Amino acid sequence: MRIHAITLGCQMSAADGAETLAALSRLGWQRTESRDDADAILMTTCAVRRHAEHRAISLIGSLREWKAHDPRRFLAVTGCVAQRLGRRLTQRFPHVDLVVGARSAARYPELLAAELEKRFGVAAPPLPGKENACPSRTARPCAPPSGGNHDASSPNGDATRYRASAFVTIMRGCDCACSYCVVPAVRGPEICRPPEEILAEVREKVAGGVREVTLLGQRVNAYACVRNGRRTDFADLLRLVDGIAGLRRLRFMSPHPGLCCERTAAAVRECRTVCPWVHLPVQSGCDRLLGVMRRGYTRAEFLRTVARLRRAVPGVVLSTDIIVGFPSETEEEFAQSLALLEELRPATAFCFKYSAREGTPAAALPDDVPPRVKEERLAATNAVVDRLTVAALRSQVGSVVEVLAESPTFGRTRTGFKVRWERPVAPGSLVQLRIGSATRRNLLGDIHEP
Ligand code: SAH
Ligand code: SF4
Repeated sequence: MRIHAITLGCQMSAADGAETLAALSRLGWQRTESRDDADAILMTTCAVRRHAEHRAISLIGSLREWKAHDPRRFLAVTGCVAQRLGRRLTQRFPHVDLVVGARSAARYPELLAAELEKRFGVAAPPLPGKENACPSRTARPCAPPSGGNHDASSPNGDATRYRASAFVTIMRGCDCACSYCVVPAVRGPEICRPPEEILAEVREKVAGGVREVTLLGQRVNAYACVRNGRRTDFADLLRLVDGIAGLRRLRFMSPHPGLCCERTAAAVRECRTVCPWVHLPVQSGCDRLLGVMRRGYTRAEFLRTVARLRRAVPGVVLSTDIIVGFPSETEEEFAQSLALLEELRPATAFCFKYSAREGTPAAALPDDVPPRVKEERLAATNAVVDRLTVAALRSQVGSVVEVLAESPTFGRTRTGFKVRWERPVAPGSLVQLRIGSATRRNLLGDIHEP
């Protein structure tokens, strides 16, 4: 049986999709890049901005003919749009066979396999056990590890041969209440996976060939799990994962600026594998807007956090997120975001036009920045970011850097810069490259043989 995956949205969505595919391939499902060859499609959707949700909905609509071609075909829609719209999706699109929302992400493999078994008669996997994670805000201990999908003892078939770099979700949901954001409503409160389970998953991936792991959470540095009277926080977890033999690089996304602490900074500095690259979303450079957004920090506090991080981790490279055109944002307030970028000098930034999301507090505010002005502000922000990216890339020219080859001629430095080179190497190898030049997005290098 063949399955085709359509993954929309953030790294977490990609990780959920990849984990589900890995579990299904243990049951004999083969991944296909072509829809026409597929018996089933697994779609993982994103609802963070209206545009993303519309894209998912129009893709679902466009699969009507795929399904009509052979009604035995199976279409599963998972993720944030599935959570938000639920039954409304199947009512509008009767060709959808299964809708599973993002709050059940840990159970996608189990739920999907059961439905596929009903349709095609392929065996379902052993149940992965109850959700054994602990809500981060409470001091409730975590349940014992499930021994489910992430158990290190799971069979090492094709499904566990991984690429050089992989995502590992360490917590789901979000306890923040940023006024513009749909994530807390869609993904629910924070639930942290027990450290044993995370370590087992990383070990399994490393055994399958992974060299670099990115730990994922909406506020990854809010991670906390209490088990057997022992509390493991994010800094502890970094040190535990760092101890895994064979792992060469460790990254994490996204820390919340209000939760950065000295212990985490020390772990970033001291751990052999942790890479000196931190994505720290600021959203705005204006205190009034940061307040209305309910981000929980001021511009000055954000900059102090960054200064502490830069002192603690020399050479750390930063990236950030910016929202432009938030309700009532004035030209002067927007200019403060541009000025913040100039002061922060991130290597890159992801910039978004504000998009009102149903049910969020900000959606009750008039969406009063005209679309044309949002567009202009986005273009102006991207122009600043492009300039900063070019400067950051140029600063690397002439240096010798370690690159993890994600393909024979492409990889990334520890600080997250993309590099291309000519002489092919085995994917997964770590190579030393001398950086000869920079384009607008990449570095170009040559294998360095001292
Ligand atoms: N948990 C992460 C971000 C998750 S969403 C964090 O807090 O850092 C990824 C990014 O999408 C956010 O950082 C924000 O810049 C953007 N975003 C979220 N909701 C948005 C909205 N309603 N309109 C525009 N951009 C939004
Ligand atoms: Fe959304 Fe804020 Fe949570 Fe990030 S921290 S997921 S922006 S509510």
